[in-house]
Amino acid sequence: MADNENARKELERLLAASVGDREIKPNVMFAKLSELTKAFAKPMVDWARVNSLWPLQFGLACCAIELMSFGSPRVDAERKGYLLFRATPRQADVMIVAGWVTKSMIPEIKRMYEQMAEPKYVVAFGECATCGGPWWESYNIIRGIDQVLPVDVYAVGCPPRPEDLYLALMKLQKRIGGKIED
Ligand code: SF4
Repeated sequence: MADNENARKELERLLAASVGDREIKPNVMFAKLSELTKAFAKPMVDWARVNSLWPLQFGLACCAIELMSFGSPRVDAERKGYLLFRATPRQADVMIVAGWVTKSMIPEIKRMYEQMAEPKYVVAFGECATCGGPWWESYNIIRGIDQVLPVDVYAVGCPPRPEDLYLALMKLQKRIGGKIED
């Protein structure tokens, strides 16, 4: 017991010697840290969001083959953080609609879009997803996914090249507040 008392007194003496005449305000440091965290959090979250766009993994028609090429080493989409295709809408940021959209698929596409967390983005990839493409006058294919979902960026072509998707995603980054790097 006496040993404990001696140790406590020694600690108090050491503390008093280290502090000297300065006033101790232990909460000041944490208050400053809190302010710093608040100041940095939003820009950091925005930066992370812009630079890690995770696409939803699904394809509708032949444009999906180009979507697969997008994952090849030649395009190097990983360099921009685009390549983490997610198999669940709950972990995806961007829906890439690749291929024609039949009327029977609309409820499924809408459901997947609704399951994505905010903020979420849509890229229409290819002529079919943009405007119906060769099936413009088809009885069962809609004239573009923008009739169903809010499209942020269009990448045209039949088929569009994987590089077009790369460019579209860079445009999307710019649109959501990111800075395009060379
Ligand atoms: S745009 Fe061309 S390549 Fe793409 S899904 Fe339509 S027909 Fe196929």
